[in-house]
Amino acid sequence: MRFQLNLDLKEGLTVKMNEEVSGENKKKLNYKRVLLVVVIIIIMLLLIIFATVIKNNNKAEQIRIEADKVAEEEIMKIAIETQKKEEERQREKEREKQEEESATGIIFLTFDDGPTSDSTPQILDILKNRNVKATFFVLHYDEHNEQFIKREQQEGHTIALHGYTHNYSEVYQSAETCIENFEKIGNQVYQTTGERSKIIRFPGGSSNTISKKYCKGVMTELVNRVIELGYRYFDWNVDSDDAGHAKTSQDIYNNVTSGIKPERKNVVLMHDFAGNYKTIDALDSIISWGLEQGYVFRKITDETPMVTHGVNN
Ligand SMILES: [Zn+2]
Repeated sequence: MRFQLNLDLKEGLTVKMNEEVSGENKKKLNYKRVLLVVVIIIIMLLLIIFATVIKNNNKAEQIRIEADKVAEEEIMKIAIETQKKEEERQREKEREKQEEESATGIIFLTFDDGPTSDSTPQILDILKNRNVKATFFVLHYDEHNEQFIKREQQEGHTIALHGYTHNYSEVYQSAETCIENFEKIGNQVYQTTGERSKIIRFPGGSSNTISKKYCKGVMTELVNRVIELGYRYFDWNVDSDDAGHAKTSQDIYNNVTSGIKPERKNVVLMHDFAGNYKTIDALDSIISWGLEQGYVFRKITDETPMVTHGVNN
């Protein structure tokens, strides 16, 4: 019995020991399992992160490709539009050339000394109504009158330079002061229109003698200097005399229509200074007369041959 018990005890001990050993194994096994699960989770997490990064990279690449495609399409669109505009311009030039060849002559209406609020918009209204383009030789303008320069540009007229000031004693002190006078108004026009004008008209014209009073020989020097600087200057060969002796709109009409000659480039001098109503009143009739006589009206451009007077100082 005792022996049995001992034996039992021994066996029990052995069993217990075996149980303890297997418990430790189990613990180790569990630990390994947990470790394995953790490792798997970490690997899965890494895989998810990796996949997300790849996906985002692909997405960014896709967006970049799309953006490049849009930019390319935009550039192509602009290029096509520019080409179309250029072709349209060439067709228009060709059409104008043909029209000029069969015309009696060409009339360039030019308006000096503006813009002014009571003359310029009325002149622009008439020109718009008759679909005639003209050239404005402008003087310094204030904020209020800037809108008329913008309108001249929008409606397709040429904005040319007359001077920042018209005061002869300031303009013709020297060749330098006259050139500065063009540069100053040129800068103002550029501020307004975004375009540089190289078409000029000397205050009083290149044939003026008043400059003698302030600087002898200044015009002789200036007509060469301005060309060297890339300007092209225009005088006139038809004078409406609206800044001189013309008293009525009939006088203006007569002066212009009797001055215009066929088969030449007629550059007509008129003014849009304040209160020049006689010119405004004559303008529509002058255009009607020109069209009836078979003339075409043009604006001065960089390609128009210069029309100049002889120099007298
Ligand atoms: Zn003038």
